[in-house]
Amino acid sequence: MVWRKTVTARSVAYDERMHTDVARNAVLAALPDGELERLEPYLKKIPLAPGQRLLNSGEPLAQLYFPLEGAVSRLVHLITGETVEAGIVGSDGVVGLPVALGGTHSYGVAEVQSPGSALCLSAADYAEHVRAAQSPLFEALVLYTNFYIAMLTQLTACHCVHRIERRLSRLILTLDDRAPNGAVRVTHDTLAEFLGVHRPSVTYALQALAETGALSSERRRIVILDRPALEEHACECYTAIREATLAAINQIRKHLRG
Ligand SMILES: [Zn+2]
Repeated sequence: MVWRKTVTARSVAYDERMHTDVARNAVLAALPDGELERLEPYLKKIPLAPGQRLLNSGEPLAQLYFPLEGAVSRLVHLITGETVEAGIVGSDGVVGLPVALGGTHSYGVAEVQSPGSALCLSAADYAEHVRAAQSPLFEALVLYTNFYIAMLTQLTACHCVHRIERRLSRLILTLDDRAPNGAVRVTHDTLAEFLGVHRPSVTYALQALAETGALSSERRRIVILDRPALEEHACECYTAIREATLAAINQIRKHLRG
């Protein structure tokens, strides 16, 4: 990948860092080299800390976030105080997707679940330099939106039909895919929020999964001991969403890079 043909030593180092960072987000990495070079001045790297809110329900959408590592939970808080997962985004995706299609306010919350970092693109820069130009990133995010709708459709069925143990297994596998050190650091309360159930139901389901040898569970930490076994326990949604993600990224890369 060629970033600049004539540059100073300082900018070479900067470009190499940016090149390394961009390659860690699947959507950005699928863009043509020229688009990445054009967007470079507008991308800003930020740390992601557990509990950090990237989006709040009803508030203006100020940024698009492209995670490089870590996990960001999309959650819907109901007026009754209950919370339900609306997806988990990692380095394979984008947070703030409505910005891509002209959305101005957030529906639901985006909260960092696992620490990491992200590249940010402001909504104003996106509107001026990407959407108005209908550049390759705009095309990529339109294609990614197709996947995101498919994922939400799958999660709707999951929440309505699949048993807690199977949904919990799917959730732990999804978080583990984005865990920095191979251990999912999450409380039973948080898992209960994701699944829209009471905490004792999660504790009971974790005990049942631990008895099979698929995982070990502590108060704030889950370690997968037998991934194939846990995948057997998980509902079909884990594989369906993972394969849809890969298909979406391949489609974007093929469409934009040939
Ligand atoms: Zn499911």
